[in-house]
Amino acid sequence: MHCPFCGDNDTRVTDSRLVADGDQVRRRRQCASCAERFTTYETAELVMPRVVKADGSRETFDETKLRAGMLRALEKRPVSAEAMEAAVERIRQALRARGEREVNARDIGEAVMQSLKQLDQVAYIRFASVYRKFQDIDEFRAEIDRLSQEPDPQ
Ligand SMILES: [Zn+2]
Repeated sequence: MHCPFCGDNDTRVTDSRLVADGDQVRRRRQCASCAERFTTYETAELVMPRVVKADGSRETFDETKLRAGMLRALEKRPVSAEAMEAAVERIRQALRARGEREVNARDIGEAVMQSLKQLDQVAYIRFASVYRKFQDIDEFRAEIDRLSQEPDPQ
């Protein structure tokens, strides 16, 4: 990285250690050109990617919306709030782990479907029927048939 004093890009790391309980890396650097020392901190990017909708518009990732969609599908189903929160957290982590600034709304929908499929198949079908907008009853039945042939995830 560039030296903040002289702008030269030949700087080297003289010391590197974990700080903030391991959530941060603190690096001491020295410029090879002017010999000035400076410190950099490195943290994981925790910002959620922006969501690209089907029409091309962008919006901020909305966890409330994600949770609401899952809750609707899970209504009156035997799935604990804890299990659902864990699923929400896994989806958030998976989205962040992509390391991209933007993510397609469709990919989020697919991630929710995969999570619901593991939590509760009725919830999955509820969500998928709204999300995928099954064209007709045959398509819907085909999905249910496909599900019943899959081994139980438990
Ligand atoms: Zn320098």
